[in-house]
Amino acid sequence: MTVWDDLVGQERVSEQLAAAARDADAFVTAAASDAPPPEASRMTHAWLFTGPPGAGRNQAARAFAAALQCVSPDRALGGAPGCGFCDGCHTALVGTHADVSTVAAVGAEILVKDMRDTVRKSFTAPANGRWQVILVEDAERLNEKSANAVLKAVEEPAPRTVWLLCAPSVEDVLPTIRSRCRHLVLSTPSVEAVADMLVRREGIEPDVAASVARATQGHVDRARRLATDPAARARRATVLKLPQRVEDVGGALRAAQELVDAAAEDAKQLAEEMDGKETEDLKAALGAAQGGRLPRGTAGVVKDLEDMQKRRRTRTQRDSLDVALAHLTSFYRDVLALQLGSRIALANTDAEDALERLARSSTPESTLRRIEAIAACGEALDRNVAPLLAVEAMTMALRAG
Ligand SMILES: [Zn+2]
Repeated sequence: MTVWDDLVGQERVSEQLAAAARDADAFVTAAASDAPPPEASRMTHAWLFTGPPGAGRNQAARAFAAALQCVSPDRALGGAPGCGFCDGCHTALVGTHADVSTVAAVGAEILVKDMRDTVRKSFTAPANGRWQVILVEDAERLNEKSANAVLKAVEEPAPRTVWLLCAPSVEDVLPTIRSRCRHLVLSTPSVEAVADMLVRREGIEPDVAASVARATQGHVDRARRLATDPAARARRATVLKLPQRVEDVGGALRAAQELVDAAAEDAKQLAEEMDGKETEDLKAALGAAQGGRLPRGTAGVVKDLEDMQKRRRTRTQRDSLDVALAHLTSFYRDVLALQLGSRIALANTDAEDALERLARSSTPESTLRRIEAIAACGEALDRNVAPLLAVEAMTMALRAG
């Protein structure tokens, strides 16, 4: 089992990354023995990973980070770096490696203050003598200031620094940044590849794996979540019943309220798991006295943390609503496929009765209008419309007629 095994259906990308990791390793080895650096390196200091949501951009970047930090003795015996087991691979994969820093958006944007320390670190040498890896998970959320900070760092990189930027598409990243990156494109993995991963890696029964892989249409994280988390399955079942519950105004408004409440509950649960401990840890690190009194001048740091936690709650709620919208879109796409007599395989075979009933009792035009209403809801949420307003507008538009 190697670091590449977590990448589902991305063989070509895995091969390129493995080749680059081999050259990177040869470079480090040569430098350590004062030998001249090897030529024609497939390694470079800035990479851009793009691909549709759920294809595994972040996982690909993280696997590469691990391979760059691999210290397995097998490397010298012709084995490729990225064993998955050595201390370098393991700590990089779980996020505790000293020379792998991750930047991820906690809110709608990556603020420059969220990544100031990381940018500073990118100008320093790695602690363990291999590579200083900076992984930016949501590069499309860099704002003007934080993108400029990244640009400066990518323009004049320290000799052993590697930037790994992940974004849905190249258009999401400043042209000046992307022109300095080697670009890797991940594709949507096939339903079969996702199902196979669930069976092999998660020990899921083959028929369950096939069903959730179909339902999530190549979104690896959502498939894994659905396969392993009963609460996620229950949530999906509830969402798929929504089309039958929005027959009148009262039903539509209730359904909207429930969707928003469920998303808010997700955000609250995450906050309960993380916020208190984070705040306590930070206060302890700042040297707060017993009873919580903070040393002079450190209140701003705590305020920054609380501000980040608030943005994270909003983002969690949004992500949770996104999952619900994706389930609904997939449901109506199936209805449309039935109405048009299309031969493509249905995604939601477990809801086939409801799909057929709706397909018979409505027209393709009304189904298209409903799919558009769901997309409009997502766009309204992007514009920071209050979630309940946006979701109510959608459920009202999903009503019969
Ligand atoms: Zn390793």
